[in-house]
Parts: sequence; structure tokens; C-alpha cells
Amino acid sequence: MRLFLSSFRSALAGISSLITLILGVLALGWVSWRLETIPDLSLPPWEAADAPLVVVDAGHGGHDGGAVANGIVEKALSLQLARLLQEQLGEAGVRVLMTRSTDRFLELEERCQMAAEARAAAFVSLHLNTSSAPEVSGIETYYSSQAGPVFGQLRGEPRKAQAAEALARLVQRRAATAVAAEDRGIKDSQIVVVRRTPCPAVLVECGFLTNKAEAERLSRKSHQKQLIQGISEGVVEFLKGRPMPLPVGRMQLDY
Ligand SMILES: [Zn+2]
Repeated sequence: MRLFLSSFRSALAGISSLITLILGVLALGWVSWRLETIPDLSLPPWEAADAPLVVVDAGHGGHDGGAVANGIVEKALSLQLARLLQEQLGEAGVRVLMTRSTDRFLELEERCQMAAEARAAAFVSLHLNTSSAPEVSGIETYYSSQAGPVFGQLRGEPRKAQAAEALARLVQRRAATAVAAEDRGIKDSQIVVVRRTPCPAVLVECGFLTNKAEAERLSRKSHQKQLIQGISEGVVEFLKGRPMPLPVGRMQLDY
């Protein structure tokens, strides 16, 4: 009887370790299948040599200061933000061409022309907003539904206007979420830089200088970095052509 019990126990132990082994193998198989099917989101899908080029456009410059309110001159802040975007896109493996990296004046057509000559994949212009109502605040992004074909467009590819709208949507959502700003949405506009630039182009109004609290936030380096991180993520998400998960701890907005 004792012998029978002990052999029964060892048989049970054998069966349970066999089950554990089978479950372990199944789990390993599942994990490796998931690893194969989930693309690595941390890596850009392009090689460094053929990384997409993005034109970063700091609004205004030189004798054109843009808006001035609450001690901030638009042309200076737009340049600071553009430099941060250059840095962050560079870190994401994107090539960047700045329309200006100093305080100089450029015609709007010159900015479009630079994107054309560089055969840019996207164009992002950075500006600051104003309103006669000092309580108005938030971020809005412009694109053009009247935009022409994309450079090197292949048959079946979405029209530039559709691509620009997608870029605007991604950038707007990421930017507003990154700094928990009032989300004023995307707007169809015929501004020269979004209509005439021959690639998907957006103009981001990064906040209202006329709103005292927002102007104060915009002058802080930490806020600038978060905001630009959002814009950069939106651009990279657009370039990768597939959605990336929002970073943990950020609010997800429905579009
Ligand atoms: Zn402006």
C-alpha cells in the first residue's frame, strides 16, 4: 500500500511537471510569436541614408517680428521652438532642413521653395498665436485642402491634401496632449506655406502670446520641450505611416 501510494504520488508529480513543461513551451511560443508580429516601434523603418527629410520652418524673422505680447516676440520664440524640433526629429532618425536658423527674413515662397528643392517628406512651420480676447488659449494646426500633388507621387498614394490633413491631425493631437493645452483642432487654410509647399505641410500655432498664463508657460524651457516632443512624435508617426502608442501617463484623445 505504501509502495502504491508513493508511486501514485510520483506519477502525480510527473504529470504536474509535464503540464508545467507544456505550459512553459506554449508560453514561450506565444511570446516569440508576439515578438515577431509586433513591429519594434523604437526603431525607424528607414535606413539612415534614405531617412525622410523634414523642413522645419521658424515663423517670421528679421524685420518681420510677428506677434509681440506679454514680453515675447514671436520670431524669437518660433526659432527657439524650431531648434528644439530640429534636435528631437534628429534624435528620431529624421533628416532636418531649417528654413532659417538665425534671425533673418525670408519670403514665404522661399520657404516653400526650400522644401521643393530638398524634396522634403513633410514641412512643419511653427508660429505663435494672438487674439483680441486675452482669455483665449490653446494650440491649433493648419493644413490646406487645396494643396497640389506630392513630389514623386505614385499612383494609388493619397493626394497631398489628404496626407497634409493626416499630418495635421497627428501633430495637433500629440502637441495638445503633450502639454495638456486647449485643443483647438485642425483648420483648413490657404496660408501660402501650407498650400504652395509641394509636400504635406502644416503650420502649428503653438499657443497664444496674448494669454498671460500661456505666454508664461511658453517661455519655460520645460514646456517648450514637452510641446516640441509632441509635435516631433506626430511628425514621426506620420512618416512611419502607422500609429505609435501614446506615452504612458498622457491623456488619449479621440479623433
Ligand atoms: Zn506667425
